[in-house]
Amino acid sequence: MSKFHPNIWYPFTILQEAPTPLKVKKGEGLWLELEDGRRIMDCISSWWVNIHGHGHPEIAGAIADQAKELEQVIFANFTHDPAEQLAEKLTDELPGDLNRIFYSDDGSTAVEIAMKMAYQYWQNKGQKRTKFICFEGAFHGGTFGAMSAGGSSPFNEIFKDLLFDVEFVPYPDTWIGDTTVAEREDQVIAKLEKLLDANPEEYAGIMIEPLVQGAGGMRMCREDFLQKLHWVNRQFDTLLIFDEVMTGFGRTGDWFASRRAQVEPDLIALAKGLTGGFLPLSATVCSDKIYEAFNSSDPRKTFWHGHSYTANPIGCAAGLATLKLMHENEPIFSQMEQWHQEELHKLRDHPKLKNHRVMGTIAAVDIINTGEDGYLNPVANRIKERCVDEGLLLRPLGNTIYLMPPYCTTRAQLETMYQGIIKLIDI
Ligand SMILES: *Cc1c(COP(=O)(O)O)cnc(C)c1O
Repeated sequence: MSKFHPNIWYPFTILQEAPTPLKVKKGEGLWLELEDGRRIMDCISSWWVNIHGHGHPEIAGAIADQAKELEQVIFANFTHDPAEQLAEKLTDELPGDLNRIFYSDDGSTAVEIAMKMAYQYWQNKGQKRTKFICFEGAFHGGTFGAMSAGGSSPFNEIFKDLLFDVEFVPYPDTWIGDTTVAEREDQVIAKLEKLLDANPEEYAGIMIEPLVQGAGGMRMCREDFLQKLHWVNRQFDTLLIFDEVMTGFGRTGDWFASRRAQVEPDLIALAKGLTGGFLPLSATVCSDKIYEAFNSSDPRKTFWHGHSYTANPIGCAAGLATLKLMHENEPIFSQMEQWHQEELHKLRDHPKLKNHRVMGTIAAVDIINTGEDGYLNPVANRIKERCVDEGLLLRPLGNTIYLMPPYCTTRAQLETMYQGIIKLIDI
């Protein structure tokens, strides 16, 4: 008997190695209830999506109401209130003149659309710019454009012959007590200036996960670096693309990483938190300048892209309910960084931990062991299997263990998570 359901192929799963998946019966706030009756705290908001916790009644209610009214309609030549209202509310919170929303269904696609828009923008302006600058260690999703823009990893290694050419520069990640970061940032900026100076008309854009690289290991950079990057981008007139698929919706302690860093990118990709984890919906938001380059009667200047479920009304209704809760939960997501700092401080001298770091609601540490740093470090599987016995859902990225709890988490519950982690790293 296979441990897997005979008709399902599970994602990111080494088929002969993975444990039997645990069946979940119910989700409520921070808690997941398993079929065998155990209750565990979802310390990572599932795949970083359930920002307000599981089963929030207001989002569930908004979905039910919308489903009875209009569940879906073709979004070319037709429009509807939920899509329009969500676009208005979302652009109100975004920096600068990021005023145009293009809807799609997941983070990879939102990134893909941002890259297509940037590439075609230059063509519409009569220039051929064929390259992107991206960051080592980045994760932008599983589609081919997103994989091309991602750093080398076990995820995209197999497909590397099929990926297009991207220029990579280091991501100047930092941690508490790091003294070398300013110097490393300057080196990255110098490298960028050199690339852009040598071929100013070659680069369509620079794409980054602002403040935190997620799947690449919760690597965090400073706001200062993003400001320098913004300045370089302005100086050389390329496009700055922020992949805020993970950092959006309060994760970095402000509504968006771009807002926290006071930087105005030309394009932003949003997904994970957008519907509070209820439905797949994503958005690529562009500046007026980009939209205007497509605003033409010429079919060659048209953006020929769309999806069967573009701007699904139920997803948009979930998005509207989520944004309302964002306003109510603002005190919590802006305060959680302080709580994490207090807990990390207690672990500062732990002999098995290094590189303590925090950004808003996200905290991470690296476990020191004999394995190599990185995604395939074996400690990840041991923790994944045993964390449930401690009442926690954790999913380390290699030897990086992190917390990304929903905004309904209390101070005491956060402390319980840290106590669980201390027990788990001793295995
Ligand atoms: C998860 C993620 C993606 C991909 O999103 P999917 O919804 O999984 O396709 C892209 N970029 C970042 C930064 C992410 O964290």
